[in-house]
Amino acid sequence: MKYIGAHVSASGGVEYAPVNAHEIGANAFALFTKNQRQWVSKPLTAESIDLFQQNCEKYGFLPEYILPHDSYLINLGHPEEEGLTKSRAAFLDEMQRCEQLGLKLLNFHPGSHLNKIDTEACLSRIAESINIALDKTKGVTAVIENTAGQGSNLGNEFWHLRYIIDKVEDKSRLVFAWIPVTPLLPDTISCKITIRCSMLLSKKSVFLSYGESI
Ligand SMILES: [Zn+2]
Repeated sequence: MKYIGAHVSASGGVEYAPVNAHEIGANAFALFTKNQRQWVSKPLTAESIDLFQQNCEKYGFLPEYILPHDSYLINLGHPEEEGLTKSRAAFLDEMQRCEQLGLKLLNFHPGSHLNKIDTEACLSRIAESINIALDKTKGVTAVIENTAGQGSNLGNEFWHLRYIIDKVEDKSRLVFAWIPVTPLLPDTISCKITIRCSMLLSKKSVFLSYGESI
């Protein structure tokens, strides 16, 4: 069974995401559980949570194949205290939203040093941020997504991910979404690299809504 889908709109409420995914014929999907461009969003209502779960059941979407993505504002490796505190609080809120919805995964980008601290210091902050969030939640796995390394974003080199794994305490709740980003490799080769690296790094592979690893 292959699980394929797309990032679908949750405009109007998270409960619309499974409906939108069903309409495009997907059997997996990604979504934002809150506005990805705002720091604070209203809490999920009991009604919204209930309808989300009902719709997932109705259209056959299993939590393992639903991949929420966190806000783009969050920087878990933020070099400054204020930005780091804000990011950690927002990330915890994202994890708790997943918990409330009965979801098992939260996809996020590692973070950026903003040219103010060195790479290792930033990676250590990211790992600590993950530890804090995992410690305060249950049942949700942190899914780190690689990046293309644009700007000062980390997560574009394997050693960055290795460094983070080493410092995360609960490794059973940490996996990688390794999305082929290098345009130099044909897709098939990238896919092989994807699965090999994710197996090697985490001993687990995540089925992404972007396409299943081969
Ligand atoms: Zn992403």
